[in-house]
Amino acid sequence: MGDDCIFCKIVKGELPSKKILENEGFIVIMDANPKSKGHCLVVPKVHYETFLDMPAEKYESFLRTARMAVVIILKEVRGEGFNFLLNNYGAAGQDVPHVHMHIIPRKRSDKVKLWDF
Ligand code: AMP
Ligand code: ZN
Repeated sequence: MGDDCIFCKIVKGELPSKKILENEGFIVIMDANPKSKGHCLVVPKVHYETFLDMPAEKYESFLRTARMAVVIILKEVRGEGFNFLLNNYGAAGQDVPHVHMHIIPRKRSDKVKLWDF
């Protein structure tokens, strides 16, 4: 599963990425086309297409990893806020069919349009 999947390739080290965090189940990488400075993605090491395919036992570690990444990245970019975004299926803007949580640091003055995916 996931032979042609970009994120599986990143997990295996077959494609480059800028990793800010890694643990047993997840990597957190910088987004290649960031919506804001510090935009990163929480990616499970196992291939699940959407959130609905991810087993419930992983929910807590998924969110825990996202939280750790938020703390790191907001400090790094002096973010004033952040959005979590999880697109599921093409109709909702999911381009990479390997579940991932966007962490998008925000500033009051930014012009980020979240719906512009
Ligand atoms: P989505 O539309 O929710 O599937 O988001 C996919 C995200 O993956 C986009 O924000 C892309 O910029 C990002 N992306 C695509 N390829 C790469 C890559 N090789 N490394 C890092 N981010 C990527
Ligand atoms: Zn994958």
